[in-house]
Amino acid sequence: MNGWDRAKELTLKNAGGIFFRLQNDGEKAVVVFRGVPFATEVHWTGGKYVDCDGAACEHCKDGSGLSTRVKLNVFLVAERAMKIFECSGKTFHDILEVRDKYGVDAWSFQIKRSGAAGSTKTKYSVLPEKQLTADEQAHINALPLHNLEAAHDDEEEATSPATSARRPDPNAPIAPAVVTEFRSRLRQLPKEKAYYPILGAFGCERLDEIRAADEAMARSLIERAERGEAIAPPPPPANELDEFA
Ligand SMILES: [Zn+2]
Repeated sequence: MNGWDRAKELTLKNAGGIFFRLQNDGEKAVVVFRGVPFATEVHWTGGKYVDCDGAACEHCKDGSGLSTRVKLNVFLVAERAMKIFECSGKTFHDILEVRDKYGVDAWSFQIKRSGAAGSTKTKYSVLPEKQLTADEQAHINALPLHNLEAAHDDEEEATSPATSARRPDPNAPIAPAVVTEFRSRLRQLPKEKAYYPILGAFGCERLDEIRAADEAMARSLIERAERGEAIAPPPPPANELDEFA
């Protein structure tokens, strides 16, 4: 892969994308599994996964086989960011095995890819990495989770020049109708328990400064606040300068 392709790949991978991917043979990352997985039945057709529509599904009628795809929230230890990992039923089975043996709350795990980019024989191994301290667990548990049901991996679109122009601007602000909805929901809750910490999670001072790309996460935070869960203030930036020194 030349430098231009590699730079493009990394830019797409890190441009606020919420999906975590290992793209090349031997690539690995240390993650902490969080929340509840979300599984769907899909067909592999036309070089990509398509959700099965159930009774009305055309692909089922065509005799296309079903497979399971599972999405999980994963905390990427190196990037200190919550992302979504999408995997096959086979990989999920391996995750269940380490979950049974070690527990997913108290351990981080290494996920490693075996298989070149584009290979249909790609596999992932899941191995225990290290036990988490109570502090690490508390920090990770306080981070908001992505709404797995609403999130769709748009990798095919992202890598196709024909459709990339139609991709929404990742920095576009949230839609006014959504701001109105969020505002009316947050008005029902104590400001210091919902409005302030949720704005803080996005580094914003007003609801209309939240980016459209963060809508799903903002929504899940509001849902958590509505259930009475505490929303933790955001962690301080890693390179914070002490202006009181
Ligand atoms: Zn189907």
